[in-house]
Amino acid sequence: MSIQVEAKTNSVFANDCKGAFRYHRLRIVMGLIDSHAHLTYPEFKDRIGDVLARCEQSGVERVITIGTSLDDARNAVVLAREYSKRIHAATGFHPHEADAVTDEQIIAMEKLWDDPLVVAFGEMGLDYHYNFADRAKQRHVFKSQLGAAHGRDKPIIIHARESIDDVIAMLVDTGFENRRVVFHCFTGADEDAQKIAERGWRISFTGIITFPKSSDLQRIARDYPIDKIMVETDSPYLSPVPVRGTKPCEPAFVAHTARFLAELRGVAFDEFVDRTRRNTIDFFGLP
Ligand SMILES: [Zn+2]
Ligand SMILES: [Zn+2]
Repeated sequence: MSIQVEAKTNSVFANDCKGAFRYHRLRIVMGLIDSHAHLTYPEFKDRIGDVLARCEQSGVERVITIGTSLDDARNAVVLAREYSKRIHAATGFHPHEADAVTDEQIIAMEKLWDDPLVVAFGEMGLDYHYNFADRAKQRHVFKSQLGAAHGRDKPIIIHARESIDDVIAMLVDTGFENRRVVFHCFTGADEDAQKIAERGWRISFTGIITFPKSSDLQRIARDYPIDKIMVETDSPYLSPVPVRGTKPCEPAFVAHTARFLAELRGVAFDEFVDRTRRNTIDFFGLP
């Protein structure tokens, strides 16, 4: 059950524009989980205590932090150990990193995956939008990770940008249909969401859904099965309305995205928080 508290003060929301102040006066609902953030990135260096304090003021009880290279993954595990009740780690090679990834590093990442503090593998996948890494190399690194993940019973986090058909084909080929898979920061089309839903996979929404130009995405977020959605910030990026443009984005801001999504779906906020909390705990197998 969600615990509800009246928000008397809230430093995160109070410093912003008028819209933010309206949110500030609304009831804060405890139990939110930011399913995807990068707390190891330089923006948060030596600030984790403050970031978590602001999470608490916004109703955000936990954060999944994502390590995207081998060094970053190790740092994510260190954070998860230090703040074991508030932060969990997920680790994997981001497609942007693919050019620099060696087979030895993939084996080292696999070893890390057996650490109980690592609750999921990823983010992994293909990014054909930025093309920061060679596409064939991206596919090699993704495929290697899928192969290693297949025999282990933990969920995987997918990063797919303008690459959805290749990503789905590789997931299906490796036997991931109806397994625990989430497409994080989903920005695809209706038919993409349909293909993801048909295979029993999940979608996690960022602050992008709060942007006025996201009407197509809002329709998808409104209609996607309630038991298959999660919310995330992808901090330090993508601050949602009404704190859009704030840098860095922080996990506390997931409250704005969740509130927006609850209104969009016509569900009471506390009910929505409770539902996405259970979805997230089930998906990641959190204690
Ligand atoms: Zn991503
Ligand atoms: Zn990410």
